[in-house]
Amino acid sequence: MDPRRFPDGPPPGLFDLPARQLLNELGGPTWLRVPGRGEHPARAVATLLHGDEPTGLRAVRRLLRRPLDLPFDLHVVLFNVEAALAGPGFASRYLDDQEDGNRIWGSTSGPPTGQRRAADAILGDLLADPLDALVDVHNTTGDNPYHAIVRDGDPAAIDLATRFTTTLLHWDLEAGTLLEALEGTCPAVAVECGLDGPASLRFAVDGLRRFLGPRPGDGEVIPDHDLVGRLLRVTVAEDAAIRFGGHLDAATDLVLPPEGDASNLTPVDPGHVLGLVHPDRPLPLRVTDADGTDRTAETLEIRADGAVITRGTQVPVMVVRSVEAVRKDCLCYLGATLSPLAT
Ligand SMILES: [Zn+2]
Repeated sequence: MDPRRFPDGPPPGLFDLPARQLLNELGGPTWLRVPGRGEHPARAVATLLHGDEPTGLRAVRRLLRRPLDLPFDLHVVLFNVEAALAGPGFASRYLDDQEDGNRIWGSTSGPPTGQRRAADAILGDLLADPLDALVDVHNTTGDNPYHAIVRDGDPAAIDLATRFTTTLLHWDLEAGTLLEALEGTCPAVAVECGLDGPASLRFAVDGLRRFLGPRPGDGEVIPDHDLVGRLLRVTVAEDAAIRFGGHLDAATDLVLPPEGDASNLTPVDPGHVLGLVHPDRPLPLRVTDADGTDRTAETLEIRADGAVITRGTQVPVMVVRSVEAVRKDCLCYLGATLSPLAT
């Protein structure tokens, strides 16, 4: 579908509407530009790449309800409006006939689906004039500390990320994310605002206000940050019967701990339990690295009692806590603690 485009500013009163009504007005993927004084290159905020992550929309709405007098144009992208509107609202990461909205950017290899066409058109709008920086605002599916995702050690990106938080995650996987599509163009970070709620909204609004404020000189990086990287992706076999909590019975292949997300972004010792399986059946979990190489055997082992445990020290990241989230993306990532970038 073609995106809704508002190059001269949002329709009057749009951001005064309640979130759901606002999305109803838009109906689909939307790009808009809030014109500024044109003294600096534009900045951009993207959000709703996932339909069940409302904090970014709520934060943008909070900021744009008041007229902003900015020295630069501000681009706003609200991507998967349809998924956000479906059912009770903010309940679907993406719809059954869609792809994941953060796996379709800048890719020439995928089929020309409506979503990819919308992503391409929006990317064209964002990059039609020089872009200074972009922030992509997300929630996490499980409970996570607030953190920001960077693609590399670019000092400007680290600087941008630490406007929001000093807990940083280095994402070196090729997945078709918006950040990847902007590589080499401008500093871009994703900000993960934990689970949606009042605290999450305050975190996002505060960070976005700092993002829209004056820019410190290039290279003025805050080196003191915690960095997790070298991510391994943990996926669950499509045909595996899984559930969170309860006992492992014959009809179930994998039981996941309901509180697995409690260890997100916290280093765990070897022996950390990821789940429970039947030791005599094929392992329904698979671990792959950034190159797609299988790292299952060196990362996980199965105890005699069926517990799937980690072999080395790992940092679990983005552990989810619903079967739907496991099916639509992955169970979690396992990372390592790295020394600060760009010091
Ligand atoms: Zn997301």
